[in-house]
Amino acid sequence: MGRTLLYEGKAKQIFETDEAGVLLHRYKDEATAFNARKRGSWAGKGRANAAISAAIFAYLERRGIPTHFIEQVDEVTLKTRRLQMLPVEVVVRNVAAGSLSRLLGYEEGRPLRAPIVELCYKNDALGDPMLNWYHFRELGLTDEELGFCEGLGLRVNAALRPFFGERGLELVDFKIEVGRDAEGRMMLADEISPDTCRLWDKKTGERLDKDRFRRDLGGVEEAYEEVLRRVTGGEDS
Ligand code: ADP
Ligand code: UDP
Repeated sequence: MGRTLLYEGKAKQIFETDEAGVLLHRYKDEATAFNARKRGSWAGKGRANAAISAAIFAYLERRGIPTHFIEQVDEVTLKTRRLQMLPVEVVVRNVAAGSLSRLLGYEEGRPLRAPIVELCYKNDALGDPMLNWYHFRELGLTDEELGFCEGLGLRVNAALRPFFGERGLELVDFKIEVGRDAEGRMMLADEISPDTCRLWDKKTGERLDKDRFRRDLGGVEEAYEEVLRRVTGGEDS
């Protein structure tokens, strides 16, 4: 089966094949942070993120959440539905960390009263700024799209918090993306992995996510392998 590279991103290559409406997402070993000002890579990152994403998408589908995921085709490649992406990054938070700590002056690790949803404009040149609904309407998004993004973020959070919790991981925060298929149906897209989630060990508080790379904490390879082991080896309710 021939593949044509459609797009090369920071973490994945996206291919089209002769199957219409279907893409291949090839997860790379490269990592970037701080809007690609920091770069690195480690063996096994693509394999871990592909398998973690596949397991989580399959779990969410079983919980009735529509996703782009079709199947995993090899160690680093997932087959997905080709979507028209909304230029939105939906961030959901349960515990203060990262940019929310800076925004509210909260120490990292402070639990939030209720999940917080943020909508950011997916635009590297602008640094993915957080915008409100008025800004997004100006950019052409509809209230239906914005409402879907927020609702999906909360549904994914409600499903994944206990999923990770049962595996000894606190879901501190995460980012998702949304797209529309050819019939106009909106669904969850992109990836869900330690690149896009903050996951803290419930017992030790150890960070098992991309913050190990962002903050030079060491042990990043081991952390991703540990998440992979817990996500794919644990109970699957
Ligand atoms: P980035 O573009 O931020 O560097 P990646 O390397 O992860 O990120 O590239 C994946 C790209 O594919 C992203 O731009 C994402 O919005 C897009 N994408 C994710 N899922 C789909 C999909 N199902 N259909 C079309 N595009 C998608
Ligand atoms: N995130 C992401 N991609 C981005 C920005 C954020 O996957 O372009 C994830 C990040 O891994 C974290 C959550 O979204 O789980 C919130 O990130 P935050 O806004 O705190 O950004 P940071 O300060 O880490 O850059």
